[in-house]
Amino acid sequence: MSSPVWHPFTQHGLGESIPRVTRTDGAFLYTDDGRRIIDAISSWWVTTHGHCHPAIMAAIADQAGKMDQIIFAGWTHEPAETLAQALVEIMPPALEHVFFSDSGSTAVEVALKMALGFFANRGEPRSRILVLEHSYHGDTIGAMSIGARGVYNQAYAPLLFDVGTIPYPAAGAEQATLDALEQACRTAPAAFIVEPLVLGAGGMLFYPPWVLAEMRAICARHGVLFIADEVMTAWGRTGTLLACEQAGVVPDILCLSKGLTGGAVPLAVTMATAEIFDAHYSDDRSRMFFHSSSYTANPIACAAANANLEIWRTEPVRDRIADLARRQAGWAEQVRQVPTIHNARVCGTIAAFELASATGSYLDGLGPRLLAFFKQRDLLLRPLGNTVYVMPPYCIDDASLGEIYSAIAEASETL
Ligand code: PLP
Repeated sequence: MSSPVWHPFTQHGLGESIPRVTRTDGAFLYTDDGRRIIDAISSWWVTTHGHCHPAIMAAIADQAGKMDQIIFAGWTHEPAETLAQALVEIMPPALEHVFFSDSGSTAVEVALKMALGFFANRGEPRSRILVLEHSYHGDTIGAMSIGARGVYNQAYAPLLFDVGTIPYPAAGAEQATLDALEQACRTAPAAFIVEPLVLGAGGMLFYPPWVLAEMRAICARHGVLFIADEVMTAWGRTGTLLACEQAGVVPDILCLSKGLTGGAVPLAVTMATAEIFDAHYSDDRSRMFFHSSSYTANPIACAAANANLEIWRTEPVRDRIADLARRQAGWAEQVRQVPTIHNARVCGTIAAFELASATGSYLDGLGPRLLAFFKQRDLLLRPLGNTVYVMPPYCIDDASLGEIYSAIAEASETL
């Protein structure tokens, strides 16, 4: 009998294999048919230090023995208090307040509601959100509304709200992006939301720190809130703790998830400035932040995040990141020699390329063929169309990285 499980972003009914994973360790997944799979994309970009880091697993077990979920509206607990304090200390100083949720999408929804609440509570209602072309911020209705439109959200278009789209800052066209943003900011929108330095699901598109810095400055000049969605880019992915760091940018609102718990359990936070927090005060309680979910600040997830922060404090995480970034750059250099691999680029620990014919033409239906090929090679790689990217856990060894790149080169030449 077929499984009743309905998988995300999976076309059921085509008979494609769905490997069953029974154990994870470091950069590897182990399946029930005895295979060892190299996790080349950190299981959708969540796993930073490697699967089942002992300190994170121990923290989860310890917390699970003491306390499960408690209501967080008007109640609190030590793991959340400790985590919020640690985040305030490690993240940019202006971000003094931490609101908990449980996924990247909800962190973004919370950010949007904070931005609109900020203006509404000050008697200056603004509702328009500016976004960057090709962005992805999640799959809930609000997050989809501010993301790129395509076949994946076409059916839901009637539910999606209108936004102002700023052209992506392609190399050589950065000034056009900045001019468009400046002009859009003159119409008094509430906020501009960006994925700093790397547009992930939109195709692993990179842009330089100076553009990020300029975009932030434009928003500041016009009193438009600047929201950094670092759900994918934070926790060292781009080479620094936050991508914003490389541009000296401090956002008004910051969204974090994925690597917040080292990738072990779901948790997210939306951090905001005192100005935004203070705008949510009134004696009659009418301006409080009207948002919650049942599992807000789950203590077990907070304990995992505290263990992640302890790993950042006590282990040479930054050295591992720098080392992986160097190895990724070396491999990118090598695949530049392959005529069917185009536009090899690296941002910190992330490498991406387009696979196409030697003349650069797009190979029709390549995505699903690549997916099947990599699965057969015991690799977890999930191309975005003909864009293949490598974003492994920081602990990946040289031999595994080599296996990934030789499979990509072979795929580009044979598929
Ligand atoms: N924002 C960004 C930049 C993301 O890359 C993602 C997921 O990939 C999200 C938000 C949504 O996160 P989640 O899948 O946890 O809802």
